[in-house]
Amino acid sequence: MKHTRIYSVLFNKCPRCAEGDFFITKSAYNLKFDKMNKKCPHCGENLVPEPGFYQGALYMSYAFYVVFMLIYFFIFVNFFGEYLDYFLYSIIPVLILLTPYFYRLARRSWLAIFIAPQDMDVTHKHEVAPKH
Ligand SMILES: [Zn+2]
Repeated sequence: MKHTRIYSVLFNKCPRCAEGDFFITKSAYNLKFDKMNKKCPHCGENLVPEPGFYQGALYMSYAFYVVFMLIYFFIFVNFFGEYLDYFLYSIIPVLILLTPYFYRLARRSWLAIFIAPQDMDVTHKHEVAPKH
């Protein structure tokens, strides 16, 4: 199956095979939303390459927040100009609600920068099997 980085980032999948789950839970709104699989359950790809690897995901989530706030602001200015005060009232609860989602999105996109998608058909499956 052909897959892309965008697909694995959006659908909580391993960036290598796009089959195994990245986070244990499907939903970002769950008490275990931050629990990751250490290895891909499908292809065995190491999802935590080194200690502190995901500090870099901070920059990804920063970028997501900035882009989101800009879009949110432009929607307000263009369509709800007379209610601009509500932009300020609403932005904080909206960002708090989006935090678990962006946290997960940032980690997945950070790892997807470093791991290229690979087709997992039977012919070369043995080459990417986990080495123990
Ligand atoms: Zn995988």
